[in-house]
Amino acid sequence: MIRVKNSVIKAAILDMDGVLWRSQTPLCDLFALFANFDKHSISVVLATNNGTNSISQYVDKLKGFGVTVDQSQVVTSTMAVSYLVKKHFPQGGPVYISGSQALIDTMAEYGFYHSKENPQAVVAGLSWDCNFESIKNTSLMIQKGLLFFFTNPDPTYPTPEGNVPGAGTLLAALETATGVKAMLAGKPLPFIFEVALERLKTLPSETIVVGDRLNTDIQGGYDAHCKTVFVLTGVNTREDLNNWSPQPDLIIDNIQDLFNIK
Ligand SMILES: [Mg+2]
Repeated sequence: MIRVKNSVIKAAILDMDGVLWRSQTPLCDLFALFANFDKHSISVVLATNNGTNSISQYVDKLKGFGVTVDQSQVVTSTMAVSYLVKKHFPQGGPVYISGSQALIDTMAEYGFYHSKENPQAVVAGLSWDCNFESIKNTSLMIQKGLLFFFTNPDPTYPTPEGNVPGAGTLLAALETATGVKAMLAGKPLPFIFEVALERLKTLPSETIVVGDRLNTDIQGGYDAHCKTVFVLTGVNTREDLNNWSPQPDLIIDNIQDLFNIK
C-alpha cells in the first residue's frame, strides 16, 4: 500500500517523457515498476502532452521495455484537443489540421478531416517535419478569423542531448505571427485528467499524478484535485520549486522511489 499525505493511493496518472524515459532510454527498470503497481493494486493511466506519437506507438514502446498496457490506458494531447474541438463542433467535418499523423488520425476518430476549403477551425500541434512553409500556411489560415486550437504548451521536450524545442515553441511562433491566442487542450488544462479519471474510475483524492514538469503535470494534477508527485528525472529541478506554487505533495528523485525497487 502506498500513501501520499494520508490518502491510500488506488490509481496513478503517469506522465511518460522525463518520468519513464528520455527518448529511447528508460529511467528505471520499467518492468519492475509496473509489477509493483500491480502488486499494490494501483491502476495506471499514461497521460502525455506529447502529440507526435499515436496511442499504439506508446503501447509498442512500453512493450519494448517488457510492459504490457491496453490502448485504453494511454491518453495524449491529440485526444484532448479532438475532444475539445468536438465540444465546439459536435457535428464534426472539415478543419485545417497542421500537425502529426497521430493528430490527423485522432481527429478522424472524432469525425474531423483536414481541408483547406471552408474549414471550421484550425487545429495544430507539433510534428517533427514542420517547417517555415507549414508555419506560414497555418498562420495565414488562423488570420482568416477561425477558432485556433492547439494540442499542448510544453516549451521543450527532454532528450538525452538535452531539452529540445517542444510544441510550445511552435505555439509561440503561431501566436506571435497572428496575435491570436490558441485554445489549449493538453496539461495543465483539465481535459486529459477528466478522460484519465473516467477510465480509472477512482476519486481524485485517491489518485496520484506523477510528472517532471511543474507548469503542466503538477499544476494540472493540483487543479484536478489529485495528489501530485514531482520526479526529478526530467525538465524541472528541485531549485525550480523555490519560486513555484502549488507545491507538489511528494518529491522523489526517480519514479521507482514510490516503491523499494533497487
Ligand atoms: Mg514530462
